[in-house]
Amino acid sequence: MSEETVFTKIINREISADILYEDDDALAFKDINPQAPVHFLVIPKKPIATINDITEENAAIVGHLYVVAAKVAAEQGFAEDGYRCVMNCNEHGGQTVYHIHLHVLAGQPMGWPPYTDKAKED
Ligand code: AMP
Repeated sequence: MSEETVFTKIINREISADILYEDDDALAFKDINPQAPVHFLVIPKKPIATINDITEENAAIVGHLYVVAAKVAAEQGFAEDGYRCVMNCNEHGGQTVYHIHLHVLAGQPMGWPPYTDKAKED
């Protein structure tokens, strides 16, 4: 899955986004469909489709995504209260955009576990 995604269009400014942070390697912007009072995404500028495509060669960028998440959390004043970082992988993980991204969710206490056990409900 190496097709261009909506996130490449955001990086290239072909579509707009509410950008919170940018450097040579990463971009952070507000999620268009927020799932918490604060919800933004941190993405690498060089696309990696899924967690399954992370290798020893490109793994450093994943650490950098967390550095950016913590930087924006500090800037926005919720670092001490806390926040949740999530990266979904493929269908069962709930991934819809195939360009890895760290969801950063904050602004209220988060529930745990974060999933619904559909098998038990049926
Ligand atoms: P995931 O389901 O983990 O792949 O997350 C994809 C996220 O991208 C979702 O939370 C979407 O709301 C978000 N999203 C999709 N398109 C845009 C966009 N144009 N601007 C900001 N966020 C977006």
